[in-house]
This record gives sequence, C-alpha cells and structure tokens, in this order.
Amino acid sequence: MHRVELLDQRTRRVRVEAGARWAQVAETLSRYGLAISSGGHGNVGVGWLVTAGGVGWLVRRYGLTIDHVQAVDVVLADGTLVHADAAHEPDLFWAVRGAGAGVGIVVAFEIEALELSSVGYAQIVVETDRQGRTLTRWAELMAEAPRDLSSAVMLVPYGNGLAMSITAVVAAESARRVRPAVAPLPTIGVKLLDQRAQLVPYPALVSTAHLHPNIGQQPSITTNGLLTMTDDNARAIMGVATDRRQPLNQMRSMGGAVNDRDGAADLIVDRRGRSG
Ligand SMILES: Cc1cc2nc3c(=O)[nH]c(=O)nc-3n(C[C@H](O)[C@H](O)[C@H](O)COP(=O)(O)OP(=O)(O)OC[C@H]3O[C@@H](n4cnc5c(N)ncnc54)[C@H](O)[C@@H]3O)c2cc1C
Repeated sequence: MHRVELLDQRTRRVRVEAGARWAQVAETLSRYGLAISSGGHGNVGVGWLVTAGGVGWLVRRYGLTIDHVQAVDVVLADGTLVHADAAHEPDLFWAVRGAGAGVGIVVAFEIEALELSSVGYAQIVVETDRQGRTLTRWAELMAEAPRDLSSAVMLVPYGNGLAMSITAVVAAESARRVRPAVAPLPTIGVKLLDQRAQLVPYPALVSTAHLHPNIGQQPSITTNGLLTMTDDNARAIMGVATDRRQPLNQMRSMGGAVNDRDGAADLIVDRRGRSG
C-alpha cells in the first residue's frame, strides 16, 4: 500500500497510501512540479509521520505535514473503513491528525502539496563556544528569519569541544533569494569551519538513495520534544552533547507557518514549545 497519486493538478491534491516512504512520494510528485514537506529522510514511512505531525525541511514555510491533510481513509477498531474530512466525520478527522495510531489504522491520506521543484540547500559547520551561546544565537536568528528558511543543527565532537553542523533549506528556486537567507548562519559560531550551498531538486533532500529494508538493524532509544532555547536549555543541551556516550542530537527550527494554525484545529497540543 504505497501508491502515490495526483488527484487534481489545479488544487494540488494528492492521495498517498500509508505504506509509502517519503523518497517515493518526493520522486513521484517531482514529475508534476509538486512537493510535500515531510521528514528529513527518504526511508521514513508516511503512516505515522502524517498522523503524528511531520517536521520537514520546509517546516517554517509550509507548516507541519499534518496541516495539509484534507482527508483520510481510516479503518476503525470494529473493522469499518471510513472516509473522514472536515465535512464527513469531522471529529474523527480532528483526532486522527495528532493521535492517528490511537483512533485507527490510516490506509491513505489526501494531502495538498506545494508547488516547488528545487530548493536552496546549504551545509555550514561552525565551532561552538562551551556555554551554549552559539545555540541561542542560532535560535534567535531563526526566530527572526524569513519563512523561506528552515534549518536543523547537530552538535558533533570537534577537538576538545563541539562543532555545530547546520543544514539550511530555503524554499526558493533562485540563488538570488537563497544567498541572503542563509548569509547570517556562518557567523553564529566561534569560527567558521566549512560552508557550501547549492540549488537542488527537492527529491535530493529525501533521496531514493536513503531507501533500505527495515529489518530492525538499528535499535536505538529516541526521545524528542519542543522547547524554547533559553540560556539554561542551551547549557543543558551542550552538557548532553558532551556526554561520553556521545548521543546523537538534532535540533530543528519551528515557528513560521507552524504557528499559523489555530490550536483547536487538530490534536497537536503545543506548537510553540515551552521552556524547560
Ligand atoms: C532516520 C529518521 C529520520 C527522521 N526524521 C524525521 C523528520 O525529519 N521529521 C519528522 O517529523 N519525523 C522524523 N522521523 C520520525 C518519524 O516521523 C517516525 O519514525 C515515524 O514513526 C515514521 O512513520 P512510519 O509510518 O515509518 O512509522 P512506523 O515506525 O512504521 O510506525 C510507528 C507507529 O505508528 C503507528 N502507525 C504507523 N502507521 C500507521 C497508520 N497507517 N495508521 C495508524 N497508525 C500508524 C503504529 O502504532 C506504529 O507502531 C525520523 C525517523 C527516522 C528513523
């Protein structure tokens, strides 16, 4: 159950079966000049990402993946197959966007895609300070940034300290708009270590090269949450990143279109993140 089908080019409505993976979705939609901001990896599946939220490479421009779901086909506990949208079964439609796995098994989603072929893609590496100022500067910069810019950062070992690896994606199809959007990022650290930027087709971000069989070969413990980057939080994250067990940690900018939605529209409770 991994079909991806364009239902209507004019309204950009797409039907995606829940077993598809995002690389397949991106590849198919690129034929029509369309994209769905999903997750950051092509091998991730559609089913739970769309019922749970979906923080993608274009999240500040496009919002959460869930924000563009127009209808779902869902099998309920009694075995009935229900088509739910804002007009039919509106309560079910509300609950499935946020608590999907708790209300049934979603067979397919109808999603409004974005008209987009290529994006600006930058990789920037900066040395960080030890107190977490680089992290708070990144968060301050992203809070003021144009919506076209979304970014994710990872803290990685560098010498006796840490470096911040920044992936920035700009929802723009010309270098003229990409350059100014990413220009402040290389200045946020103690020292710039590397930077490169290019225009790439959207499917390059969630590439078919990511696809691999899921056979439980990478057991891991994962936690995640939303937070505001206060000085205390930044210091705590720096502490976690220097833990000798070297956990992998990634932070993503939210805001922008994510905050446009009325909190009652779906079951995503806290879009802005709380301190602590
Ligand atoms: C490498 C990697 C990168 C990631 N990057 C991102 C990212 O950038 N942004 C982001 O938002 N998330 C990201 N994620 C998290 C991702 O959203 C979750 O792993 C999610 O579970 C993927 O959906 P899935 O359908 O593959 O889930 P599965 O692992 O197959 O399922 C998880 C649970 O979801 C439920 N479920 C699955 N399908 C359905 C369905 N059709 N109907 C009802 N319930 C269902 C089931 O209870 C199941 O146990 C990433 C994960 C990985 C491994």
